[in-house]
Amino acid sequence: MSKITRRPPVKPKTATKKSEPKPSKSLAANPRQQKSAAAKLRQALEAKTSTKTSAKTSAKTSAKKSSKPPTRLAKSAGKPAPRASKPWTSAEVYEAFARFRKANPEPKGELEHLNPYTLLVAVVLSAQATDAGVNKATRALFAIADTPAKMLALGEEKVRDYIKTIGLYRNKAKNVIALSEKLLVEFNGEVPRTRAGIESLPGAGRKTANVVLNMAFGEHTMAVDTHVFRVGNRTGMAPGKTPLEVELGLERVIPTEFMLHAHHWLILHGRYTCLARSPRCAVCLINDLCRWPEKTV
Ligand code: SF4
Repeated sequence: MSKITRRPPVKPKTATKKSEPKPSKSLAANPRQQKSAAAKLRQALEAKTSTKTSAKTSAKTSAKKSSKPPTRLAKSAGKPAPRASKPWTSAEVYEAFARFRKANPEPKGELEHLNPYTLLVAVVLSAQATDAGVNKATRALFAIADTPAKMLALGEEKVRDYIKTIGLYRNKAKNVIALSEKLLVEFNGEVPRTRAGIESLPGAGRKTANVVLNMAFGEHTMAVDTHVFRVGNRTGMAPGKTPLEVELGLERVIPTEFMLHAHHWLILHGRYTCLARSPRCAVCLINDLCRWPEKTV
């Protein structure tokens, strides 16, 4: 009688669907963590550069494609880009922004404000809220309080009443009063023009600093919100797992001449064309350049 040998059951292969990276909440939530994360990432980039130099010989074979712009962030993290299989060339990035500029030469932010101070307050209020929702609340608030002194005179309770339609309004009202007080005591009532100064204010983090520095003071900063994060990853222009990685990646690849408006072009592109659920690829200005495997053109 022959023996029947039983084989162990073969495990069925399960298809793993990659999801788009989501911005880390902690980065947006804690300004101190943001600063230390930025420093760590920069250190990692520097360390990577020096390691590359010493390992030059072994890297010769992989250096054939040196004409392509480096995907420095993805490589610095030692991981492949989440979506893009092929990095954008400098010429492609230039072409994309030239098209954005042609279509909308002077893009504007959608947060209503009257001066740098009201812009700062609007950005602080916009965390986890829509620009339209913030504008609805701030129109009446800024009509009577458009300076730190007037906001302090109004008081936390009344500020709370004005902004109660915005999420997390209790905490935000507290921050608006605290930042107004700090501006008066430490900055002579003016919004500071430095990242460190803005990030030292209650409720203000890296994204707030980037928006204020760009919109109020014309600095070439890149604020990464949910739209910019999605566009940077989907298109493959600046893939990254955190807003900071995407921010630094975009800063590296976008030519200086586009940096003043780049933040707005990318936000508007993400908000009105490269929508989260149903991107409008058929009417997308950069659909031939986009690397997203799931684009519908
Ligand atoms: S082609 Fe589609 S996925 Fe790519 S950027 Fe345009 S809208 Fe977004």
